[in-house]
Amino acid sequence: MHTKTLRELADGLDSGQFSSEELTRHFLTRIAEHNPTVNAFITVLEQEAMAQAKAADARRSSGRASILDGIPLAHKDIFCTAGVRTSCASKMLDNFIAPYNATVVEKIASAGMITLGKTNMDEFAMGSSNETSWYGPVRNPWNTDCVPGGSSGGSAAAVAAGLAPASTGTDTGGSIRQPAALCNLTGLKPTYGLVSRYGMIAFASSLDQAGPMTRTAEDAALMLQAMAGFDDKDSTSLKRDIPDYSASLNDSLKGKVIGIPKEFFAEGLSDEIATKVRDALAEYEKLGATLKEISLPHSHLSIPCYYVIAPAEASTNLSRYDGVRYGHRCDDPKDLADLYTRTREEGFGDEVKRRILVGTYALSAGFYDAYYRKAQRIRRLIKQDFIDAFKEVDIIAGPTSPNPAFGLGEKVNDPLTMYLEDMYTIAVNLAGIPALSLPAGLVDGKPVGLQLIGKDFCEAEILNAAHQFQLVTDWHKQTPAAFA
Ligand code: GLN
Repeated sequence: MHTKTLRELADGLDSGQFSSEELTRHFLTRIAEHNPTVNAFITVLEQEAMAQAKAADARRSSGRASILDGIPLAHKDIFCTAGVRTSCASKMLDNFIAPYNATVVEKIASAGMITLGKTNMDEFAMGSSNETSWYGPVRNPWNTDCVPGGSSGGSAAAVAAGLAPASTGTDTGGSIRQPAALCNLTGLKPTYGLVSRYGMIAFASSLDQAGPMTRTAEDAALMLQAMAGFDDKDSTSLKRDIPDYSASLNDSLKGKVIGIPKEFFAEGLSDEIATKVRDALAEYEKLGATLKEISLPHSHLSIPCYYVIAPAEASTNLSRYDGVRYGHRCDDPKDLADLYTRTREEGFGDEVKRRILVGTYALSAGFYDAYYRKAQRIRRLIKQDFIDAFKEVDIIAGPTSPNPAFGLGEKVNDPLTMYLEDMYTIAVNLAGIPALSLPAGLVDGKPVGLQLIGKDFCEAEILNAAHQFQLVTDWHKQTPAAFA
């Protein structure tokens, strides 16, 4: 049951092959067995999940179940879950019980899905390796000496190890796509504004988007259907008609033009990833698409631009953790200044502190124009690169990450090297457009991701392209032997 897709599980529930209670119990048993190795979950919700499963079975037997009803999943611990610890993998929020549900959690629950638990992540979603978590690193099920990617590393490892059939993630600079690539999943970052950010703990508000992490594009379409939609509780949520994301999955790719940015195949890309990605692109030619070289001339500026904007937004967003309202509070503060400084000193880890320092500096009087305003201007140029490219092509494709999964501890003390892991994903967040990563092969037993980037609100188009690839390849069906 744990290697099946959501679509297959829905069929199994429908035909009475198994009940939601059996299915949920199966995943809880696997979590108990394997989570000590991978550390994908911060919190497991055994009793709650079993109660939800029972209710789902009742709905199904009375004929009231929708497609995802009764199927379990795991939520990244960045989404507020009412009555349940929501830690963002930080000591700061280790004792925080959310008083309400994030809209994403609410919508997925109303689709009938069962919450197995909350997944591990980089602290406040800052990282590309899931090593900055207060709850310890997550291990990659494909090679437990390696990182699963980050920041949604727990969500990725949970699905890859067969501890959940799907999960939610968030992507500010690559945190859905990069761990999806490193763990052999399909991970989708939607257009900014498509999925509500209400109740999703903020990192960099103009970049953060929630999305699904699944085995297949078909499953991602089902999950996105449940997650997307206008929310008046999020001021950046967009009012739009939501298409049926599954309806166009079988459309032919004949005549589609796929743009290949030459900057994505230049310095920094490992040879083995380049080869696998080129093989995948050749597959698209067989499917009837035309490849066309394009240029995204400002893409080399995306990392410096992001590392001004994201820390600036983070420094303001994280100012709320002051020891007064919620979360960690230091013992016996001498005065208010001591309360603030000691609480924050104790509550945040090194990477979070580094971001707050950089962001506060970039926003300070005298430096604002030199850094923040300049970065915003570059952001506009990066967006313009995509607008221009999409005049000539339907989809843009390239690698998701420059390297396969790297060793635990290998990059964690070298922030600049770590930041380069997102060199192909960050521009997409700066531009606000949708992109997904899908499995495109293995090198030395480690997964490689292919990234497909779409125009604003063209999720259906990239899901279609991913599904067509998955109909003629079986990389997405591979699972790590140690977790069979
Ligand atoms: N790795 C990037 C960072 O550390 C992106 C993280 C994310 O997408 N949440 O900022």
